Amino acid sequence: MKNSIKTVNPYTNHAIKTYQLYDANTIDSILNSAHAQFREWRHTSIKERCRLLSHLAQIMEDDKQELAELISQEMGKPILQSISEIEKCQSLCDFYAVNADDFLADELIETEASESFISYDPLGVILAIMPWNYPFWQVMRFALPTITAGNTAILKHAANVTGCAIAIEKLFEKAGYPKGCFTAILADHDAIEKLIGNELIKAVTLTGSENAGKSIAATAGKHLKKTVLELGGNNACIILDDADLDTYMDTIVNARMQNAGQSCIAAKRFIVTEAIYDEFLDRFKEKVAQLNYGDPTHAETTLGPLAQKKFADTIKKQVDESVALGAKIVVGNTQQNAYFEPTILTEITEAMPVFKEEVFGPVAPIMKAKNADNAFEIASNSRFGLGTMVFTQSIELAQRHIATIDDGAYFINELVKSDPRLPFGGTKASGYGRELSKEGIQEFVNKKTVYIN
Ligand code: NAP
Repeated sequence: MKNSIKTVNPYTNHAIKTYQLYDANTIDSILNSAHAQFREWRHTSIKERCRLLSHLAQIMEDDKQELAELISQEMGKPILQSISEIEKCQSLCDFYAVNADDFLADELIETEASESFISYDPLGVILAIMPWNYPFWQVMRFALPTITAGNTAILKHAANVTGCAIAIEKLFEKAGYPKGCFTAILADHDAIEKLIGNELIKAVTLTGSENAGKSIAATAGKHLKKTVLELGGNNACIILDDADLDTYMDTIVNARMQNAGQSCIAAKRFIVTEAIYDEFLDRFKEKVAQLNYGDPTHAETTLGPLAQKKFADTIKKQVDESVALGAKIVVGNTQQNAYFEPTILTEITEAMPVFKEEVFGPVAPIMKAKNADNAFEIASNSRFGLGTMVFTQSIELAQRHIATIDDGAYFINELVKSDPRLPFGGTKASGYGRELSKEGIQEFVNKKTVYIN
């Protein structure tokens, strides 16, 4: 059994650091400390919790460059995108610092009682299992509302971003959060399985792959514990004949290529109606050719490597299998270590891996649809349900599909994105539960009915 984690810079392929996994006693003592802290923390005022949120945002501002460099080093994100990620975390602090009080206030409900209401009480220690693709944002998106609601949190981060996990723990400490409010543990999957079974863990959230979701939900289910699952996606991006490509071409290419395509909500299937297909393909190709692959620490780099070589290997296989089934490569499909060349494919069928599986990298399969109805029909043919986006000037036509989209999000003339003010989450194989907004802060609370006769 492995007892250490080695982080590797995917751009240079050089080892960064080796960390020892925590032993069972250390994990136990972290859990006990998180539980002990919960008993105090739940009684702190919302005002104090919001003050700490604002302080955390300030600390991130002070340390922004250093934190962003750590992201770029561990998972290869271009530095400007890493800086944006930290800034987005700051905006999340600001959002909950202003709104948490309202979101958690008792909700009066009139009945025949003299008073009846819902009280939003924290649950206890919540375990979060998080991925590497947005190593700060994914963690903060869970931790800020959950801790502000009065819970304490334990993080098991993806092994390849262990430095980020430790840096996040230090941020909470520096911001003045009491010890035990947020702790990162370095643990393997077996240790996590045991931890989920411990009675002090009250609920579990996972952002990650479908397989991890099934495994974590099964373990949590065995112990009757609530889970929130934010899993993979295979978002369709529909382009209709009247799409305003002059305005939206950058957005559309960004929807696929940002973070080297390693985003759950990326556009992963482009479905384009006949009349605009040729123009769209030409313009897509032109924009992709402008991507600038290079050292993630350089400001001019717009495309980094994938986070690990094994991820590029998987994508190569998915593309090669699709080609064997008849897909045509317009550009791309070369790999060197963790680098995967931005790739455009046409002649796509629904049987191909690039259509039916999640491809977590810079690969754009572009399909032709006969008309708008046909495009929406193809789009809906997916096991995943994170989001759908459509680009068209016929807003009424796009609105007619609101009721038929089964995903967690539907964006018209915008890429599917997360926003602190709006709920975020999926359906079907993309998971369940919501993060962000009022919905997110109310995921890990006991909605307690109080009735005073
Ligand atoms: P992953 O392999 O599922 O890993 C995610 C996290 O789960 C890591 O911390 C991993 O730990 C842990 N993990 C996996 N299996 C586990 C198990 N059996 N027991 C305990 N921990 C386990 O996913 P990934 O490849 O890193 O991330 C990419 C996936 O995440 C994509 O499918 C993407 O779409 C999805 N994602 C979804 C969202 C969303 O909001 N819906 C956001 C971002 C990413 P180790 O690193 O130690 O294996």
